Amino acid sequence: MGLAQACQDDLECARFFRVRGSMVLPSQGSTRDIVTASQSPNCRGVRVQVLWPQFSRNKFLGEGLELSARSRLSTQLRLTKIYAKVVTIPIELEEATEPPINLFKPKEPYTATIKSNQKIVGPKAPGETCHIVIDHGGNVPYWEGQSYGVIPPGENPKKPGMPNTVRLYSIASTRYGDDFDGKTASLCVRRAVYYDPETGKEDPAKKGICSNFLCDSKPGDKVLITGPSGKVMLLPEDDQKACHIMVATGTGIAPYRGYLRRMFMENVPTFKFEGLAWLFLGVANTDSLLYNEEFISYQKQYPKNFRYDIALSREQLNKKGGKMYVQDKIEEYSEEIFKLLDGGAHIYFCGLKGMMPGIQDTLKRVAEERGESWDQKLLKLKKNKQWHVEVY
Ligand code: FAD
Repeated sequence: MGLAQACQDDLECARFFRVRGSMVLPSQGSTRDIVTASQSPNCRGVRVQVLWPQFSRNKFLGEGLELSARSRLSTQLRLTKIYAKVVTIPIELEEATEPPINLFKPKEPYTATIKSNQKIVGPKAPGETCHIVIDHGGNVPYWEGQSYGVIPPGENPKKPGMPNTVRLYSIASTRYGDDFDGKTASLCVRRAVYYDPETGKEDPAKKGICSNFLCDSKPGDKVLITGPSGKVMLLPEDDQKACHIMVATGTGIAPYRGYLRRMFMENVPTFKFEGLAWLFLGVANTDSLLYNEEFISYQKQYPKNFRYDIALSREQLNKKGGKMYVQDKIEEYSEEIFKLLDGGAHIYFCGLKGMMPGIQDTLKRVAEERGESWDQKLLKLKKNKQWHVEVY
């Protein structure tokens, strides 16, 4: 389809550019600006942002991915404006053969700047989780699945006179960052609060230092970062037809958000995903779901390549009538999961430490029901580098 034809109307134009993938910061423009932009020799992609008239504020529909899902609405609403800007994706970030490791250490951290901070759970979620975009100016590059260290300001309460120690946070964006310019990293941070076991009341004196610092941060605030670190959750990219089974509880979703954006949202020449990504996400309730809209849109766009199953412990019941945890979902699909693992699938676990015993018990039980030894199977998965665990 030629550009002129693709741009018959605003919606068609946006669809066309969605297919091209890629990114941008918005600057106001018209359909014609997008066409001109895309024809510029430096253009590596255009991101389209759409303003729906009935929203009072600019509603960003996620790189246009939501657009086709909502296209039926367009007949009633009509688009009013399309925003676009040309970006050159820093493609040199694909060239390295080894991931960057510990470019900045605790003694000499990098001073980055908070770019944005947004609460991403609804009012009925127990607890608060924030999506925090950190501007590192391109100086602290990382790969999908790695973590940053954050040194919160202030004195270490356990060692007066000493600075606070580093806390690790999985990076929730791809190496290009949410703005696709290679200058930011996003974190998904849950505010750690302390409830007195006797009174049941929150005790602000014992709240988590770093998570509260990050969740309270404002654009422009400075943040000391270290890293990037970690190799265990790197996305193996040698086989782009591979299967990746991702299991997350809560903020354990962070590395998978990066993987999935790389697989389904970005359009870089070196990574064209044609395999299967299967995400299992366990949270308390619907309001606690993280990045749900992004995942739903991938499901609609790539039903053959992306599966998404959620376990809502406070809203759903498992088949025994108990709370629905992520391991219950794994059990439900155990036949398929075991077949995929036998076929070489990678399986990843990320989130709270407490998730692993229940999952391991389930996998062991399923293996035994199939007449297999789980211990031997696990050994083989580890040996084949199919087993990836990062829990905290
Ligand atoms: P801290 O100040 O370290 O306190 C820890 C806990 O102790 C808190 O719950 C606090 O309320 C409690 N506490 C404090 N004082 C007392 C006291 N006197 N008595 C009893 N309890 C007390 N977290 C995320 O949110 N998102 C991520 O993506 C993420 N990724 C991680 C990746 C890795 C590889 C690792 C190792 C950890 C990751 N974490 C992540 C966890 C993160 O590193 C921190 O541990 C977490 O944010 C808590 O740190 P904090 O400084 O807020 O709490």
